[in-house]
Amino acid sequence: MDYGYQGRVAVVTGGSSGVGLATVRVLLESGAKVALFARNRERLEEVAGQLVEHHGADRVLAGALSVLDAAAVARFAAEVEARFGRCDLLVNNAGQGRVSTFADTTDDDWRAEYELKLFSQIHPVRAFLPMLRASRGAIVVVNSLLAYQPEAHMVCTSSARAGVQNLVKSLSLELAPDVRVNSVLLGLIASGQWERRFADRADKSQSAEEWYRDIAARKGIPLGRLGAAEEAAAAIAFLGSPGASYVTGAHLDVSGGLSRHV
Ligand code: NDP
Repeated sequence: MDYGYQGRVAVVTGGSSGVGLATVRVLLESGAKVALFARNRERLEEVAGQLVEHHGADRVLAGALSVLDAAAVARFAAEVEARFGRCDLLVNNAGQGRVSTFADTTDDDWRAEYELKLFSQIHPVRAFLPMLRASRGAIVVVNSLLAYQPEAHMVCTSSARAGVQNLVKSLSLELAPDVRVNSVLLGLIASGQWERRFADRADKSQSAEEWYRDIAARKGIPLGRLGAAEEAAAAIAFLGSPGASYVTGAHLDVSGGLSRHV
């Protein structure tokens, strides 16, 4: 699908895998120039090589850095400006969930989780804001359904994500009318962390299809399956696109109906 990104520049944090990489691909296919970053240089270079092969070196910029390193994120923003001259869309996707109950979450775990969830928003927004304002652009935050529907086995991730959702609303007010700010609330998307859990499954005779089907049944997902990274990417691309020009401060569930709030 073409979301109308011709002549636009997008930045995707955590763009080397899963939802981030699927988003990079759909944006490139919709005509954007895309800058992506992640920490692991080897994986990033492999992915960037494939993207350049398909879409051309003039449309892809990749940087190996952590979203938690404010100076590195600022340097990357300067690189994007030097290379592409603008930024129309920032997708804050970098991160991962933490599986832990209240009983087994230490103070250091709480601090690390809050740092990751909040500063993975704060650093890129601060660094890219001047360009986003200049282009009257958009920010899409990749958040989780846990923000509204916490789970006891992911207690600190759930609580930090609620804070992120609150921040999305504040940003949408403070940055209006220049920059739109929205989020997607992911349910269970079969990428990254789920692929790692599948690799660690107890019963190695279970196929990926069986294992994912079991999870969907256990979780009671109405659509009966986990989502694909491309399905999350489609929602992100829409919210960042000209087609969503009157949408700000909103969130879109991508959860196969798992969301129980009205
Ligand atoms: P993946 O593990 O497949 O991808 C995560 C990406 O983020 C990778 O590119 C990773 O690269 C990068 N990343 C992680 N930490 C940092 C960091 N500190 N600095 C820069 N880049 C970083 O995950 P998913 O695609 O599954 O998830 C994408 C986002 O969606 C995450 O924020 C996740 O928490 C969230 N989410 C996912 C759900 C799911 O079911 N998949 C459910 C709810 C939310 P590298 O490790 O090289 O840095």
